[in-house]
Amino acid sequence: MSRKIKALIAKLAAGDGPSCEELTLLISQTDSQIWQEIRLLADSVRAKHVGSDVHLRGLIEFSNHCRANCLYCGLRRENRALVRYRLEPQEIVETALLADQLGYGTVVLQSGEDPFYTKELLAEIIAEIKGRTELAITLSVGERTFDEYALWREKGADRYLLRHETADPALYASLHPKRTLEERVKCLKALRSLGYEVGAGFMVGLPGQTPETLARDLLLLVELDVDMIGIGPFVPNPHTPLAREEGGSFEQTVNMVALTRLLMPTANIPATTAMGSLRPDGREITLKAGANVLMPNVTPKRFRPLYEIYPGKICTDEEAGQCRLCIEGRIKSCGRTVGTGQGASLKYQQRSALHGNHAAGQ
Ligand code: SF4
Repeated sequence: MSRKIKALIAKLAAGDGPSCEELTLLISQTDSQIWQEIRLLADSVRAKHVGSDVHLRGLIEFSNHCRANCLYCGLRRENRALVRYRLEPQEIVETALLADQLGYGTVVLQSGEDPFYTKELLAEIIAEIKGRTELAITLSVGERTFDEYALWREKGADRYLLRHETADPALYASLHPKRTLEERVKCLKALRSLGYEVGAGFMVGLPGQTPETLARDLLLLVELDVDMIGIGPFVPNPHTPLAREEGGSFEQTVNMVALTRLLMPTANIPATTAMGSLRPDGREITLKAGANVLMPNVTPKRFRPLYEIYPGKICTDEEAGQCRLCIEGRIKSCGRTVGTGQGASLKYQQRSALHGNHAAGQ
């Protein structure tokens, strides 16, 4: 390992923000010893700042309809091969109640960008779940208007996930027809201004991505000061224009999770389902490299195979109760503990304490 790389790792360990050039240089390294060291460091930073708890989120994929046409995604509007579904509002509420019974402190309501669920309809669903449970609600329903975000927040939505996917404006535009990175970032800032706990994140291995792109991805997370960060590999879907592209590397994705933990010690970082889909022990490896969240699926089983953003997705065949047991076993096998309660990120809690209850959403 060169002296320059050693100094860079020491800089990260000390919590000093690296420059884009320095991060690019680090990301370009292929020596596995370097990455082993970075992963171990990330694991110790995770232990020191957010402890051994792994927070669980019950994921409800309530609609696979989408008005957008992202080139990498199986849910894209032009994928005619996909059978589409929507959960009835009452079934969404019932599924959230099941997540509550299973002991998950949070539900994630996720869908394609589906205008069928209007501002008012989603607001009613949120209000009913909040009225009947102590669950935190995370929304992941894409780019919507400020008024929609505001009403959902008012009705009790706590968090919002909106990955930025790539921080390169030209690459972003080429992957997202008629959309811009600028608009995406505007949405993230609007969500923050409304007091949501905000999540962004990116894909690793996108065609045209370079080490510098990844460095910019990481620095954008820091700049936006997000609370939650989802990072997953690009997995080519056969029913999309990117079918023949090469997929992202598992190892590089774990490495990006580790770097993210070093740059943002108090954020919540999931070991994504996509990591478990690439390798049977993928989520465990990611938990050991800085991650502290898992998102077991509670979507009714009959719909799960249809939420196919990428092929080979795991956990489409188990009942929700089985997932709970399986996930718990995986957490314990890593020497970690199962988090209880809503499990807001420490980053968000600290900011809320600093700026008062509005930011805390209480
Ligand atoms: S990534 Fe999201 S917005 Fe884009 S097509 Fe897929 S579901 Fe729709």
